[in-house]
Amino acid sequence: MRKPIYVTMPTLAPLEEVNELMQGIWESGIMTHNGPLVQRFEKEVCEYLKVPQMVSCCNGTLALQMAIKAIGKQGEIITSPFTFIATISSIMWEHCTPVFVDIDPKTLDIDASKIEEKITCHTVAIMPVHVFGNNCDFEAIDAVAKAHNIPVIYDACHSVGATYKGESVFKQGTISVTSFHATKMLNTAEGGGIFTLNKEIDEKLRRIRFFGFENHADIVEDGFNGKMTEAHAAIGIANLRYLDKALEDRKEKYARYKEILGQNPEIAFQKITTGCNYSYFPAIFKDEEIALKVVAALNAENIFPRRYFYPSVNTFTKLVPYVPMPKSEDIASRILCLPLHVRMSMQDIEEIAELTLKTSK
Ligand SMILES: *Cc1c(COP(=O)(O)O)cnc(C)c1O
Repeated sequence: MRKPIYVTMPTLAPLEEVNELMQGIWESGIMTHNGPLVQRFEKEVCEYLKVPQMVSCCNGTLALQMAIKAIGKQGEIITSPFTFIATISSIMWEHCTPVFVDIDPKTLDIDASKIEEKITCHTVAIMPVHVFGNNCDFEAIDAVAKAHNIPVIYDACHSVGATYKGESVFKQGTISVTSFHATKMLNTAEGGGIFTLNKEIDEKLRRIRFFGFENHADIVEDGFNGKMTEAHAAIGIANLRYLDKALEDRKEKYARYKEILGQNPEIAFQKITTGCNYSYFPAIFKDEEIALKVVAALNAENIFPRRYFYPSVNTFTKLVPYVPMPKSEDIASRILCLPLHVRMSMQDIEEIAELTLKTSK
């Protein structure tokens, strides 16, 4: 039996490189509190992405919550039902209500043309998700947001390395939020990053991250502890050196998967909009039965694709009242993300693709 192949594995720098940075932490005794490595990680990510600033924090879910808190209003937040549960839980933990807009079944992102009809006097933000690193329709979303004067918070948790018009997508929206979780393109084990071109919001986010303090004296925000630790920053600084290679590797493997699976016209692929980072390989099968058949065939070979995202989050009725989202529910029932990461060989990709092809016919 082959060694298990999981849907993803973290891209990790050689341990010596992390240890060298850890040594510095042990020498200085500085573990956290916006220490030198956190500041360096923020600076190096900004240099790499060519963006002016990033507020790092302890995870992507909290980063979304901080972004909502920085907007400073409670009410309805328009979002996508085809996402990871954290998009919704962050909205609810900030005492806001998610209002779903169904997806474009080709791009898998929110259908921007359907946002306007869901805007009410209670709408406080639009939170679209760049699903699998595939950019939302920025122009359409900006136009609606501007017309109604509503901020946009992008859930860009999949989007490290994704670009729009040659620049990082994190420059889009009022705020863009990403995740540095172990399974994401760039990881600090757990971590998050918040990007905005608005200096006031950036400063507010830094106060929110540190209990709401201003100048270590007065409390001026409804803050909490959102800090990233020095140890996590050390992992991030080392891993960042390998991000370019990891992005290139993903793109090549994605293309190979598509080349082989494209032989079955009944398998659909995400329609790539602009500047995708190809961080996942989603394949959409004809129906749920075939998708489950593929899962069983791959599992028998110790290969573990994921039903990602399944189920559509509007069906979590313990959390939200059910509102049908037919496109999202349909895609969720028959989509699989096939294993795609830096530790797989091209031969692994080919074997998985061939087995998937054979089983899906
Ligand atoms: C991973 C992810 C999050 C949450 O990030 P964490 O760092 O795991 O908290 C939020 N939204 C989406 C779409 C994600 O994939």
